Amino acid sequence: MSGDVTVISGPTAVGKGTVTRALKALHPEVWLSVSATTRPPRPGERNGEHYWFINDADFDELVETDGLLEWAVVHGRDRYGTLAAPVRAAVERGERVILEIDLQGARQVRQRLPQARLVFIAPPSWDELVNRLVGRGTETAEQRERRLVTARGELAAADEFNHVVVNDDLGTAVDELVSLLGL
Ligand code: 5GP
Repeated sequence: MSGDVTVISGPTAVGKGTVTRALKALHPEVWLSVSATTRPPRPGERNGEHYWFINDADFDELVETDGLLEWAVVHGRDRYGTLAAPVRAAVERGERVILEIDLQGARQVRQRLPQARLVFIAPPSWDELVNRLVGRGTETAEQRERRLVTARGELAAADEFNHVVVNDDLGTAVDELVSLLGL
């Protein structure tokens, strides 16, 4: 599979989902992959829009049948993966494909699709990252702690990426992505 594939990754709560959605709002022509996950939906999340919410057995089957381009256990708990078939189809249609995934997944994509463009979304500072995680208020203290441990390791991985975009101001971060993607 070749084609125009961009991976957007970065530490937890850095706002990569927000940046990705803003990019999609500005450029609806980009093709955003909808991941499969075993995590239960949060209030307001819709199946097929935010994620495909599936059970463990269905996730196992996807893994066994090579139905995932990449997958990972994120924050030591739930599994998340990129469905291979829709991505392959989008690439074949000549779409600009965007995957918003965690660092472990980004590394797998780099192995499988060496031509993919890897973009790391970085926080302006560690303190700001902690503020955002606490401010979001969607996790329990224990989940937050686990995510911060993950984030420390993830921040150190920025230099494995082709590009680093600092998400200080949302508009500026999106502008940088637009120019990286040549949109
Ligand atoms: P959340 O549970 O907050 O929606 O997402 C948690 C983390 O899972 C985020 O860092 C997000 O980037 C990552 N993630 C979402 N979908 C995928 C995927 O398909 N593969 C991988 N490896 N990570 C994903």
